[in-house]
Amino acid sequence: MRTPLIAGNWKMFKTHLDAMRLVQGLAHELAGHNFDRVEVVVCPPFTSLRTIQTLIDSDRYQIGLGAQNMHHEKEGAFTGEVSAAMLRSLDVAYVILGHSERREIFKEADADINLKVKAAFAAGLLPIVCCGETESERDAGATESKVETQMRAAFDGVKPETAAKAVVAYEPIWAIGTGKTATPEDAQATIAFIRKVLGSTLGDDVAASMRILYGGSVKSGNAAALMGQADIDGALVGGASLEAQEFAAIVKATKA
Ligand code: PEP
Repeated sequence: MRTPLIAGNWKMFKTHLDAMRLVQGLAHELAGHNFDRVEVVVCPPFTSLRTIQTLIDSDRYQIGLGAQNMHHEKEGAFTGEVSAAMLRSLDVAYVILGHSERREIFKEADADINLKVKAAFAAGLLPIVCCGETESERDAGATESKVETQMRAAFDGVKPETAAKAVVAYEPIWAIGTGKTATPEDAQATIAFIRKVLGSTLGDDVAASMRILYGGSVKSGNAAALMGQADIDGALVGGASLEAQEFAAIVKATKA
Protein backbone atom coordinates (compact mmCIF):
# COMPACT_ATOMS: atom_id res chain seq x y z
CA MET A 1 0.00 0.00 0.00
CA ARG A 2 1.31 3.42 -0.97
CA THR A 3 0.26 6.21 1.40
CA PRO A 4 -0.56 9.30 -0.68
CA LEU A 5 1.67 12.30 -0.10
CA ILE A 6 0.77 15.94 -0.67
CA ALA A 7 3.89 18.10 -0.59
CA GLY A 8 3.91 21.89 -0.78
CA ASN A 9 6.86 23.56 -2.50
CA TRP A 10 6.88 27.13 -1.24
CA LYS A 11 9.76 28.06 -3.55
CA MET A 12 11.22 31.54 -2.80
CA PHE A 13 8.04 32.79 -1.16
CA LYS A 14 7.19 33.66 2.45
CA THR A 15 9.42 35.57 4.81
CA HIS A 16 9.96 34.21 8.29
CA LEU A 17 6.71 35.48 9.90
CA ASP A 18 4.58 34.71 6.85
CA ALA A 19 5.96 31.17 6.82
CA MET A 20 4.99 30.73 10.48
CA ARG A 21 1.50 32.03 9.78
CA LEU A 22 1.11 29.71 6.82
CA VAL A 23 2.02 26.54 8.69
CA GLN A 24 -0.16 27.55 11.64
CA GLY A 25 -3.04 28.22 9.25
CA LEU A 26 -2.49 24.90 7.57
CA ALA A 27 -2.49 23.02 10.88
CA HIS A 28 -5.75 24.78 11.73
CA GLU A 29 -7.34 23.87 8.38
CA LEU A 30 -6.22 20.27 8.78
CA ALA A 31 -7.48 19.76 12.34
CA GLY A 32 -8.99 16.28 12.47
CA HIS A 33 -7.19 15.14 9.31
CA ASN A 34 -5.85 11.59 9.42
CA PHE A 35 -2.19 12.08 8.54
CA ASP A 36 -1.58 8.32 8.46
CA ARG A 37 -3.94 8.07 5.50
CA VAL A 38 -2.70 11.08 3.54
CA GLU A 39 0.75 12.37 4.47
CA VAL A 40 1.35 16.13 4.32
CA VAL A 41 4.74 17.81 3.90
CA VAL A 42 5.74 21.46 3.52
CA CYS A 43 8.98 22.59 1.91
CA PRO A 44 9.67 26.19 3.00
CA PRO A 45 12.77 28.22 2.12
CA PHE A 46 15.89 27.35 4.14
CA THR A 47 15.44 30.49 6.25
CA SER A 48 12.21 29.18 7.78
CA LEU A 49 13.08 25.51 8.30
CA ARG A 50 14.24 25.93 11.86
CA THR A 51 11.21 27.90 13.02
CA ILE A 52 8.75 25.62 11.31
CA GLN A 53 10.44 22.55 12.74
CA THR A 54 10.12 24.12 16.22
CA LEU A 55 6.42 24.87 15.64
CA ILE A 56 5.79 21.34 14.39
CA ASP A 57 7.54 19.96 17.47
CA SER A 58 6.05 22.19 20.11
CA ASP A 59 2.49 22.23 18.80
CA ARG A 60 2.63 18.55 17.76
CA TYR A 61 1.62 19.17 14.16
CA GLN A 62 1.77 16.00 12.12
CA ILE A 63 2.92 17.96 9.11
CA GLY A 64 6.27 16.76 7.75
CA LEU A 65 9.16 18.99 6.78
CA GLY A 66 11.09 19.09 3.51
CA ALA A 67 13.76 21.28 1.93
CA GLN A 68 13.84 22.45 -1.66
CA ASN A 69 17.46 21.67 -2.49
CA MET A 70 20.85 20.74 -0.99
CA HIS A 71 24.49 20.35 -2.02
CA HIS A 72 25.85 16.84 -2.51
CA GLU A 73 29.11 17.39 -0.60
CA LYS A 74 29.16 16.77 3.15
CA GLU A 75 30.81 20.13 3.87
CA GLY A 76 33.35 22.48 2.40
CA ALA A 77 34.02 25.79 0.72
CA PHE A 78 30.72 26.04 -1.15
CA THR A 79 29.50 29.55 -0.38
CA GLY A 80 25.74 29.78 -0.20
CA GLU A 81 25.11 26.04 -0.11
CA VAL A 82 23.57 23.75 2.51
CA SER A 83 24.41 20.08 3.14
CA ALA A 84 22.14 17.10 3.70
CA ALA A 85 23.48 16.68 7.26
CA MET A 86 22.61 20.31 8.05
CA LEU A 87 19.04 19.67 6.93
CA ARG A 88 18.83 16.38 8.79
CA SER A 89 20.00 18.07 12.00
CA LEU A 90 16.88 20.26 11.79
CA ASP A 91 14.67 17.16 11.55
CA VAL A 92 14.04 17.77 7.87
CA ALA A 93 12.73 14.49 6.45
CA TYR A 94 12.48 15.16 2.70
CA VAL A 95 14.37 17.12 0.09
CA ILE A 96 13.13 18.07 -3.37
CA LEU A 97 15.83 17.25 -5.92
CA GLY A 98 15.98 17.98 -9.63
CA HIS A 99 13.08 20.41 -9.73
CA SER A 100 12.81 21.85 -13.25
CA GLU A 101 13.62 25.33 -11.90
CA ARG A 102 16.89 23.97 -10.47
CA ARG A 103 17.62 22.21 -13.75
CA GLU A 104 16.77 25.19 -15.97
CA ILE A 105 17.82 28.25 -13.98
CA PHE A 106 20.68 26.77 -11.96
CA LYS A 107 21.87 24.41 -14.69
CA GLU A 108 21.71 21.22 -12.63
CA ALA A 109 22.40 18.21 -14.80
CA ASP A 110 21.21 14.63 -14.35
CA ALA A 111 24.65 13.71 -12.96
CA ASP A 112 24.39 16.42 -10.27
CA ILE A 113 20.99 15.15 -9.26
CA ASN A 114 22.31 11.60 -9.00
CA LEU A 115 25.06 12.81 -6.62
CA LYS A 116 22.44 14.64 -4.56
CA VAL A 117 20.13 11.61 -4.41
CA LYS A 118 23.02 9.50 -3.06
CA ALA A 119 24.07 12.20 -0.57
CA ALA A 120 20.48 12.65 0.64
CA PHE A 121 20.07 8.94 1.33
CA ALA A 122 23.48 8.77 3.00
CA ALA A 123 22.38 11.48 5.45
CA GLY A 124 18.97 9.93 6.12
CA LEU A 125 16.91 12.32 3.98
CA LEU A 126 14.25 11.04 1.59
CA PRO A 127 14.55 12.61 -1.85
CA ILE A 128 11.55 13.77 -3.85
CA VAL A 129 13.07 13.39 -7.31
CA CYS A 130 11.47 15.48 -10.03
CA CYS A 131 11.27 14.75 -13.75
CA GLY A 132 9.24 16.07 -16.63
CA GLU A 133 9.27 17.30 -20.21
CA THR A 134 9.12 20.75 -21.80
CA GLU A 135 6.25 21.72 -24.06
CA SER A 136 8.33 21.26 -27.20
CA GLU A 137 9.49 17.82 -26.02
CA ARG A 138 5.86 16.88 -25.42
CA ASP A 139 4.88 18.14 -28.88
CA ALA A 140 7.73 16.14 -30.40
CA GLY A 141 6.50 12.96 -28.68
CA ALA A 142 9.61 12.83 -26.51
CA THR A 143 7.96 12.75 -23.06
CA GLU A 144 8.76 9.12 -22.37
CA SER A 145 12.37 9.26 -23.52
CA LYS A 146 12.92 12.40 -21.40
CA VAL A 147 11.55 11.01 -18.16
CA GLU A 148 13.22 7.65 -18.75
CA THR A 149 16.63 9.32 -19.11
CA GLN A 150 16.03 11.44 -16.00
CA MET A 151 14.92 8.48 -13.88
CA ARG A 152 17.71 6.15 -14.96
CA ALA A 153 20.28 8.86 -14.22
CA ALA A 154 18.79 9.89 -10.86
CA PHE A 155 18.90 6.35 -9.42
CA ASP A 156 22.08 5.19 -11.14
CA GLY A 157 24.16 3.27 -8.58
CA VAL A 158 21.50 3.50 -5.85
CA LYS A 159 20.63 0.14 -4.26
CA PRO A 160 17.01 -0.89 -4.95
CA GLU A 161 16.19 -1.28 -1.26
CA THR A 162 17.42 2.28 -0.68
CA ALA A 163 15.71 3.75 -3.75
CA ALA A 164 12.44 2.19 -2.58
CA LYS A 165 12.13 4.98 0.00
CA ALA A 166 12.41 7.78 -2.56
CA VAL A 167 9.44 9.71 -3.86
CA VAL A 168 9.27 10.64 -7.53
CA ALA A 169 7.39 13.67 -8.84
CA TYR A 170 6.34 13.81 -12.47
CA GLU A 171 6.03 17.49 -13.32
CA PRO A 172 5.47 18.43 -16.95
CA ILE A 173 7.37 21.73 -17.18
CA TRP A 174 4.68 23.34 -19.34
CA ALA A 175 2.20 22.79 -16.50
CA ILE A 176 4.28 24.33 -13.70
CA GLY A 177 2.86 27.66 -12.59
CA THR A 178 0.94 28.07 -15.86
CA GLY A 179 -2.57 27.03 -14.86
CA LYS A 180 -2.37 24.23 -17.47
CA THR A 181 -2.46 20.66 -16.17
CA ALA A 182 -1.94 17.32 -17.80
CA THR A 183 -5.26 15.51 -18.12
CA PRO A 184 -5.67 12.87 -15.42
CA GLU A 185 -5.41 10.20 -18.14
CA ASP A 186 -2.19 11.62 -19.62
CA ALA A 187 -0.65 12.07 -16.16
CA GLN A 188 -1.63 8.50 -15.28
CA ALA A 189 -0.13 7.15 -18.52
CA THR A 190 3.20 8.90 -18.00
CA ILE A 191 3.38 7.96 -14.34
CA ALA A 192 2.59 4.32 -15.17
CA PHE A 193 5.43 4.52 -17.70
CA ILE A 194 7.79 5.96 -15.06
CA ARG A 195 6.88 3.06 -12.77
CA LYS A 196 7.70 0.64 -15.58
CA VAL A 197 11.11 2.28 -16.08
CA LEU A 198 11.78 2.13 -12.33
CA GLY A 199 10.73 -1.52 -12.41
CA SER A 200 13.23 -2.32 -15.13
CA THR A 201 16.09 -0.68 -13.22
CA LEU A 202 15.18 -1.33 -9.56
CA GLY A 203 12.86 -4.31 -9.78
CA ASP A 204 9.08 -4.45 -10.08
CA ASP A 205 8.48 -4.88 -6.33
CA VAL A 206 10.49 -1.77 -5.53
CA ALA A 207 8.76 0.22 -8.29
CA ALA A 208 5.36 -0.92 -7.07
CA SER A 209 6.16 0.37 -3.58
CA MET A 210 7.49 3.80 -4.65
CA ARG A 211 5.25 6.82 -4.48
CA ILE A 212 5.01 8.82 -7.68
CA LEU A 213 3.39 12.25 -7.43
CA TYR A 214 1.98 14.51 -10.10
CA GLY A 215 2.91 18.20 -10.11
CA GLY A 216 1.87 21.07 -12.34
CA SER A 217 -0.90 23.56 -11.45
CA VAL A 218 -2.64 21.23 -9.01
CA LYS A 219 -5.53 23.06 -7.35
CA SER A 220 -8.45 22.04 -5.15
CA GLY A 221 -10.65 21.90 -8.25
CA ASN A 222 -8.56 19.38 -10.20
CA ALA A 223 -6.95 17.41 -7.35
CA ALA A 224 -9.58 14.69 -6.93
CA ALA A 225 -9.55 13.70 -10.61
CA LEU A 226 -5.75 13.56 -10.70
CA MET A 227 -5.39 11.77 -7.37
CA GLY A 228 -8.08 9.28 -8.37
CA GLN A 229 -5.76 7.70 -10.96
CA ALA A 230 -4.32 4.30 -10.09
CA ASP A 231 -0.64 5.21 -10.28
CA ILE A 232 -0.80 8.79 -8.96
CA ASP A 233 0.16 8.75 -5.28
CA GLY A 234 -0.25 12.41 -4.44
CA ALA A 235 0.92 15.80 -5.59
CA LEU A 236 3.81 18.22 -5.48
CA VAL A 237 2.07 21.58 -5.24
CA GLY A 238 3.65 24.97 -5.89
CA GLY A 239 1.41 28.04 -6.11
CA ALA A 240 -1.59 26.47 -4.39
CA SER A 241 0.51 25.50 -1.37
CA LEU A 242 1.00 29.17 -0.46
CA GLU A 243 -2.53 29.53 0.82
CA ALA A 244 -3.56 27.36 3.79
CA GLN A 245 -7.20 26.84 2.85
CA GLU A 246 -6.45 25.96 -0.77
CA PHE A 247 -3.63 23.57 0.14
CA ALA A 248 -5.77 21.91 2.81
CA ALA A 249 -8.57 21.50 0.25
CA ILE A 250 -6.14 19.59 -1.99
CA VAL A 251 -5.22 17.33 0.94
CA LYS A 252 -8.89 16.73 1.68
CA ALA A 253 -9.63 15.95 -1.98
CA THR A 254 -7.03 13.15 -1.86
CA LYS A 255 -8.39 9.71 -1.11
CA ALA A 256 -6.26 7.25 0.83
C1 PEP B 1 6.12 23.04 -8.64
O1 PEP B 1 6.82 24.04 -8.69
O2 PEP B 1 6.61 21.97 -8.25
C2 PEP B 1 4.74 23.14 -9.04
C3 PEP B 1 4.10 22.04 -9.31
O3 PEP B 1 4.20 24.42 -9.15
P1 PEP B 1 2.66 24.79 -9.45
O4 PEP B 1 1.80 23.93 -8.57
O5 PEP B 1 2.55 26.24 -9.11
O6 PEP B 1 2.42 24.51 -10.90
